[in-house]
Amino acid sequence: MSVALLSGGVGGARFACGLVEAAGAANVTVVGNVGDDVEVLGLAVSPDLDSILYALAGLHDEERGWGRAGETWEALATVSALGGEDWFRLGDRDLGLHLVRTQALRAGEPLSAVTARLARALEVETAILPATDDRLRTWLDTPAGSFPFQEWFVARGHRDEVDAVRFEGEAAPAPGVLDALAAADAIVIAPSNPYVSIGPILAVPAIRAALERRRVPAVAVSPLVGGRAVKGPADRMLARMAGGTTPEHVAGCYAGLIDALVVDESDPAGPLAVRRVVARTLMTDRAASRRLAEAVLEASA
Ligand code: GDP
Ligand code: CA
Repeated sequence: MSVALLSGGVGGARFACGLVEAAGAANVTVVGNVGDDVEVLGLAVSPDLDSILYALAGLHDEERGWGRAGETWEALATVSALGGEDWFRLGDRDLGLHLVRTQALRAGEPLSAVTARLARALEVETAILPATDDRLRTWLDTPAGSFPFQEWFVARGHRDEVDAVRFEGEAAPAPGVLDALAAADAIVIAPSNPYVSIGPILAVPAIRAALERRRVPAVAVSPLVGGRAVKGPADRMLARMAGGTTPEHVAGCYAGLIDALVVDESDPAGPLAVRRVVARTLMTDRAASRRLAEAVLEASA
């Protein structure tokens, strides 16, 4: 069974690991968010693609959820000491990847080609595709003003309530994305933030249209457990922008795009416009991710 997975960073990467175990590495194509990509210290950083890449390569820091295991921070300490831009945390090991990617992008290589090359070098068999090779950036409108994604999320610690999410840039799907969606036996939306992780992927008009016209089941996994985000601002964003944090509110983010929503046992019952699949959705370890992925595959068979 071949699966196309739309994914953000931490929650998406955790789920991707389980999905690869359940479906087979070669049967999965991950379409990753690039709305939070950022230029730091002159380097092109793609946080969500990297979380997916490190997780599938087995190099990720399990506890932190992002970045590499065994990371050190000497370069950043030097940046700080020299009065440089130090608000965005880049580890020493991680920096090496950003150097390679930045050089390739400057030389004119598309992001999708660089990402494929990095995955090959790290012996990742699963295809990891950016949603687009074009510049697509997420902006948040808040009572304190409008901020680019990383300024809101990292620099301001996502403390500002969000009134609206906007996407800057006219983006076409990266090579391979539409083919993967067309060839898939199932389309899965990872337990990622609907607004700032999946939203930017769906902001690529041709990707949204492909989901609307799908001929195969599409299943989303809720990133909320018992109405609360496991990590990050998804619950606060849903409460403010959708009016609540029930499965119905989550499904509302994907209206017309999914056939089923996988929710946790602890989530409230109630009316749902799509099929409800109840599972244990907390990915406490690799085995839990795999069991969740198996439930998702069963729901999309
Ligand atoms: P980001 O790009 O790093 O912010 O990552 P994602 O958007 O992919 O993941 C963040 C979302 O993952 C948050 O809304 C979390 O609630 C969700 N999440 C993290 N761990 C889990 C988990 O174990 N189970 C579920 N269902 N959601 C999770
Ligand atoms: Ca992200």
